[in-house]
Amino acid sequence: MGHQGRQLGNIPVEPTLKGQEMVLEQYPYVGMPYRVKFVGPLADSSVDPCITIKLMPNNADRVSPIYAGLGYLLTKHAKFSDETEFKIVRGEFESRKVPLMDLIIDNRGYLSSRFDLYDIIGFVSVYPRPVIDNAPLSKCPRCNAYIWAPNDDQSTDKDEWYNKAVGRFCSYSTPRFCLYCGQRFRISYKHGRQDLIYKTAKTERHITIPKLKVNQS
Ligand SMILES: [Zn+2]
Repeated sequence: MGHQGRQLGNIPVEPTLKGQEMVLEQYPYVGMPYRVKFVGPLADSSVDPCITIKLMPNNADRVSPIYAGLGYLLTKHAKFSDETEFKIVRGEFESRKVPLMDLIIDNRGYLSSRFDLYDIIGFVSVYPRPVIDNAPLSKCPRCNAYIWAPNDDQSTDKDEWYNKAVGRFCSYSTPRFCLYCGQRFRISYKHGRQDLIYKTAKTERHITIPKLKVNQS
């Protein structure tokens, strides 16, 4: 906690946009696209139905899992029939300049099918949980998305798909939350290290160095 606490005073205000990835002096943002539904007159439009939210996978800003959770709820519940309205909502989520509680209250109709504030708050404030199964094919315990393996191109070569997961795991082995749904992951702070807690069908284990099978090709 102490380590993260020191970062609080240095939260960056104006990140520099560089393609999909936000690059800051010390704290990298990633742009995570959340796809919403277009209905009525918007269904045939050429507007990209994505709201891309800036997230810090190490949660240095302390609110990234909440924004990811809101992004997930948008993909489940948001339906837009008006382009102007969509662009206003997209701007509010992408800029992250609207105070978080105002953002949630003002957009509750896009975040919950029942307009229920308590559904939304409950979803984004769940307790951290261990990830499921071993790296690099671990999954989020809530939405079941792969944490490192690509979730979208499983039709491509299996070795390539697996090696991508190994590469992502090696470059980024301790994500604090699921980029898809915002579920926070449990972390072990043993021995001065910070490691993910993994859970298999039978046990909950502290794995510091998961065994990776690397394909030679
Ligand atoms: Zn998830």
